[in-house]
Amino acid sequence: MAEQFHRAHRVAGIGPTIFATMTAEAVRTRAANLGQGFPDEDGPAEMLQIAADEILGGNNQYGPGPGVQALREAVARDRRRRWGQQVTADDVLITVGATEAIAASVLGLVDAGRQVVVLEPTYDAYSAAIGLAEATARPVRLRLAPDADGVRRWSLDRAAFAAACAEDATAAVILNSPHNPTGTVLDRDDLEFIADCVRGTGITVISDEVYERLVYDDDLHHTAFATLPGMAGQTVTISSAAKSFNVTGWKTGWAIAAPELLAAVTAAKQFLSYVGVTPLQPAVAWALDNADEWSENWDATLRDRRDRLAGVLRATGQEVLGSDGTYFLVSDIAPLGLGISGEEFCRLLPSAVGVAAIPVSAFVVADAADDPADPVRTLVRWTFCKNDTTLATAAERLSGDAADGTLADRIRTARSRLRS
Ligand code: PMP
Ligand code: GLN
Repeated sequence: MAEQFHRAHRVAGIGPTIFATMTAEAVRTRAANLGQGFPDEDGPAEMLQIAADEILGGNNQYGPGPGVQALREAVARDRRRRWGQQVTADDVLITVGATEAIAASVLGLVDAGRQVVVLEPTYDAYSAAIGLAEATARPVRLRLAPDADGVRRWSLDRAAFAAACAEDATAAVILNSPHNPTGTVLDRDDLEFIADCVRGTGITVISDEVYERLVYDDDLHHTAFATLPGMAGQTVTISSAAKSFNVTGWKTGWAIAAPELLAAVTAAKQFLSYVGVTPLQPAVAWALDNADEWSENWDATLRDRRDRLAGVLRATGQEVLGSDGTYFLVSDIAPLGLGISGEEFCRLLPSAVGVAAIPVSAFVVADAADDPADPVRTLVRWTFCKNDTTLATAAERLSGDAADGTLADRIRTARSRLRS
């Protein structure tokens, strides 16, 4: 029978995201969801009240194209105050989440057939947006090596990054620090190295800084890439309310760039969604100006939860890699001696143990789940942004008891049951 429709090749490789898939599996099995990175507790109460008042007060129609002025001003003020980024409301475009800002930046700034350098492991929306633009993702793997304390952590592979930037096809670079999924915060030296690679080359930098407020190591600070010498004119900075104020469902984000650069992003954005969501914007503006204390408390809470989760994972026999920011910790399941990939482990985990997590192989272009030589093969991402009850449930289930057997025992049993 002839096919009823043609699926465009630009979405050929795109299925449901790993996050949606694992959350559906967590719901089905009533697992504690340490997979998809969304908090299960609310942001600042006053911010929520303002949004409710705006809706009930009738602020429910299209807003201005670049966004509600009060939010554009608050974003600019926040960037100046927090990171020393010298921008004004004219440099700010409000978008439907950081996701739309990423898509509009790639669509507006990268021609079909060109390539975009991404740090790998790579957040899935980047390769999808690059595919929609009919360009190619050019991954540069972060290097994984032990630090002075013997803890394995990720860092920029400078030679590989410089080589990728030197290729003629490279039109843009997408940076992400603090980095999903590894929790890596690129230090100022690495960011300066990146700036040296792109300065004067015509390469545009798209800097995804959605985890800008979530840095836990006292010696590390978030650096806004656009503040490095010469970078303001060739950088689009992206962030959103989702991770700063626990409102992942509000889908309210922004792109920040010099007006000529921003015009290209706006050109694409206005025909993706037209405008952002009107009544939420005054609420986010309030939070940017007034929720510092809430942010500091949330940061301290997350740091504590990261440390607790790391302890639980270590006690099960896994190796925990260094993470200095974001919502995420990565573990290596290899020491459990199961001989299986992180992908298989994450498929078995919800029903066998009652916890959900995400395989890091989902964040790489190569088929790492099948490549025994690839260190990513046995890595698993866990989120610690969930409330104390969810985390305690997960901890209890991962630890097990004498009757349950160890984590490795239970995965082994589930696996052999499936195979028989
Ligand atoms: N970038 C990164 C690195 C993310 O982890 C996420 C998920 N929040 C996004 C962008 C998307 O953000 P938003 O929900 O605002 O679209
Ligand atoms: N950023 C979230 C994560 O990495 C997921 C967001 C999404 O599902 N699009 O878990």
